[in-house]
Amino acid sequence: MPDGVRPPDGLGEGWAGMAEPDDCVFCKIAAGQIPAQVVTRGERVLAFRDLNPQAPTHVLVITREHHRDVLALAATDPQALAELVQVGAAIAADETGGPFRLVFNTGAAAGQSVFHVHGHVLGGRDLGWPPG
Ligand code: 5GP
Ligand code: ZN
Repeated sequence: MPDGVRPPDGLGEGWAGMAEPDDCVFCKIAAGQIPAQVVTRGERVLAFRDLNPQAPTHVLVITREHHRDVLALAATDPQALAELVQVGAAIAADETGGPFRLVFNTGAAAGQSVFHVHGHVLGGRDLGWPPG
C-alpha cells in the first residue's frame, strides 16, 4: 500500500496470510467441498455463478486462497487481483460482448456478506447508476 494510504478501520485486516477460517463458504467452494457452477478455473482464481443472480450474467470471481476483502488482496497478492480482473473481463467478453460491471462490496455496510474476496461480474442488461 502506498505510504500514507490506509484502509478504513476494520477493512483489509484479518485473515490475509493466515490459515483460512473453518466456516468460509468460498474456501469450501474453492476446495470442492460445496458445489458451484464453475465458469473458469485460473491459476490463482476461480469463477462461478452467483446463487442469487442479479443480472443475466452474474459471476463471482474469487481467489483460491483466503483474503478477507479486496484491500487485503491488493496488499498481499496484487498479481492475483490482476488475474481476478482479467478473468472477469474475459467472462464478460464471452457472455455480454464486452460491457460489464465489476463490483467489490467491501465491508458489511457496503453489502459485503461473504468475507472472502470476490468480484461480482455483472452484465447482460442495462445497469443503472447510481447503484442502490
Ligand atoms: P456479497 O454480498 O458478499 O458482496 O456477495 C456474496 C454473494 O455470494 C451473494 O451475491 C450471494 O448470492 C453469493 N453466495 C452466497 N453463498 C453462495 C454459495 O454458496 N454459492 C454461490 N454460488 N453463491 C453464493
Ligand atoms: Zn475463504
